Amino acid sequence: MMVKKMESSMNIKDFCAENDRRDYLKQPFNIDGRTVASNGHILLSTQLCAEYDELKEGEAAGIKRVLAGFDATKLTPMPIIPLPDPVECSICGGRGTAHKKQCVECDGEGEVSFDNCFNGYECECKSCGGDGFVVSKHNTETCFSCNGDGSYYRSH
Ligand SMILES: [Zn+2]
Ligand SMILES: [Zn+2]
Repeated sequence: MMVKKMESSMNIKDFCAENDRRDYLKQPFNIDGRTVASNGHILLSTQLCAEYDELKEGEAAGIKRVLAGFDATKLTPMPIIPLPDPVECSICGGRGTAHKKQCVECDGEGEVSFDNCFNGYECECKSCGGDGFVVSKHNTETCFSCNGDGSYYRSH
């Protein structure tokens, strides 16, 4: 698994729900003079951004309960978590751009099979090394492995 590099500024929309039956969680909203984004598990509350809509009364009850449940004066800054050194992305070689194409030899299976009149055989595709795809250099296409960062943090 890879962890994406933390951007220096956060996008509040990253905290919204993508697929949730509660439509109001799909974009940031304003409540009690603050702007809030939540996916139903994590809630981010920040100073008011006027571009977002005020949440409707019925929808706001649960959110108001959450916000009333803690004392903001007792919050402390988040500790700085040391990150391991980033590893250069092996797919794009650190460039941040790469093109992924399905392997034509194995049709993306990563294995090829063949048989003679005695037996059937399966073996790893030598064209793609079993990945099912091949990677070529590309100047503008964002690398699918590192999301264009050129490096990533490896988890243990
Ligand atoms: Zn990459
Ligand atoms: Zn292949």
